Amino acid sequence: MHTSIWQNILSSISQEIDAHRFETWFRPLVLNNTSKPDTISLYVPNQFIADFLDQHYKNLILSHAQSFSSDITSIEFTVNTLKNQFFIETDDISQNKPITTVLHNPSELTISSYPQLNKRFTLSSFVVGPNNQFARSAALAVSESPGKTKFNPLLIYGGVGLGKTHLLQSIGNNCLACHPDKKVTYITSEEFYLNFIDAIKNNNTKEFTARFRSSDLLLMDDVQFFAGKESTQEEFFYIFNTLYQNGKQIVLTSDLPPNSLKGLQDRLISRFQWGLAVDIQPPDLEIRVAILKKKAEEDNLSIPQDILYYIAENVSSNIRELEGVVIRLLAFASITKSDITIDLIKNVLKGTTKVEKVRVSIDKIIEKVADYYKVPVNNIREKNRRKEVALCRQIAMYISKEVTNNSLKTIGLNFGGRDHSTVIHAIQQIESLKTSDSYISKDIQEIISSLNL
Ligand code: ADP
Ligand code: MG
Repeated sequence: MHTSIWQNILSSISQEIDAHRFETWFRPLVLNNTSKPDTISLYVPNQFIADFLDQHYKNLILSHAQSFSSDITSIEFTVNTLKNQFFIETDDISQNKPITTVLHNPSELTISSYPQLNKRFTLSSFVVGPNNQFARSAALAVSESPGKTKFNPLLIYGGVGLGKTHLLQSIGNNCLACHPDKKVTYITSEEFYLNFIDAIKNNNTKEFTARFRSSDLLLMDDVQFFAGKESTQEEFFYIFNTLYQNGKQIVLTSDLPPNSLKGLQDRLISRFQWGLAVDIQPPDLEIRVAILKKKAEEDNLSIPQDILYYIAENVSSNIRELEGVVIRLLAFASITKSDITIDLIKNVLKGTTKVEKVRVSIDKIIEKVADYYKVPVNNIREKNRRKEVALCRQIAMYISKEVTNNSLKTIGLNFGGRDHSTVIHAIQQIESLKTSDSYISKDIQEIISSLNL
């Protein structure tokens, strides 16, 4: 099979399933393009992913593939240990290009065709709580009567993974359900920008903007991305005016309230304030439990109540992360056929917390460790061999590995240019100390919590 067909298939799959699943299961796939024409042969990094894909996604891939080529009748997965570099940090294998660079990036693939609404994002699959109630009511109102409420434009703002895109797309889906003849356009600001640049290059900005100007409902996601992009903002300004004057509905999302958006022209910001700006707050514990329950039910996964609470207490930063936990649990439970226990959850949670905690710097970690043990910061960084200093350094290295996404090499560099084998040694050392010395675990926990991750 030709790579471009596979790219189309991937792109079409990415429209149907959510981004998290796509990243987890489809991103690692590499096409073996020497396979027979009736077979899609895919390299997968390990047996676990092969089994999971085989059980859960084979038919999905097949049905998407057949819409491109009816000749395709089978899918096979081959574990490719040679290419099994997924779990190696990229800058530790500099001479060996990481496999991710040859993978197909769905956003690259879909650039020329506009994204559609994802049918999974509906108002009924959106769990309502005090944190998002107002936003949801406004969303319902504009989707039922686009352009006819006072909420024009409607701007929904809030942090990452709190449901802005979900709600925005629900507005589109519900509007089409109520008014099938309406023209709904959903686009992210990034896609808008990239397509606009293309249009300028190809001299067809008129055709480009026509699509937006003729919408009854324009859904523009993550408008903060326009920051600093003057000509894109200008084009969007004119589109906005045309739509507004014609009584068409505009809905926007952003990470911050309009008056805090940096790098956007004042005239745009003031227009964003004409209608209603409404926020989504992080969900509290009860809502997180409710969301988890809903996600688990959608996947036919039954999670005992105490475990739901345990997860919801430990994963509090955003809903995408909660979903990630359900996906992993699903994987674990179906492959190992084991019951969902607190120990299993601890294992599953280990991986997720890391993803979110890339923002803390190694310097900050060193500072907190130095502070905790009352040793000078420089002693931790420099080549000081005193035993207690060495232990502090190892703890700082260990915490750096636990809570950041830095590679071993980068961590070593931050500790006076030590190499990655020293970091590995430190991590092993602390891991073994943790099992024999309960004070170490307590210390580490306290230091991590002082980082306010
Ligand atoms: P944002 O756009 O704010 O970064 P998303 O809309 O992409 O966040 O939400 C992240 C994930 O969490 C999505 O898969 C979405 O379906 C889910 N989600 C967010 N809020 C809710 C909610 N209230 N009920 C159910 N699922 C939600
Ligand atoms: Mg979003």
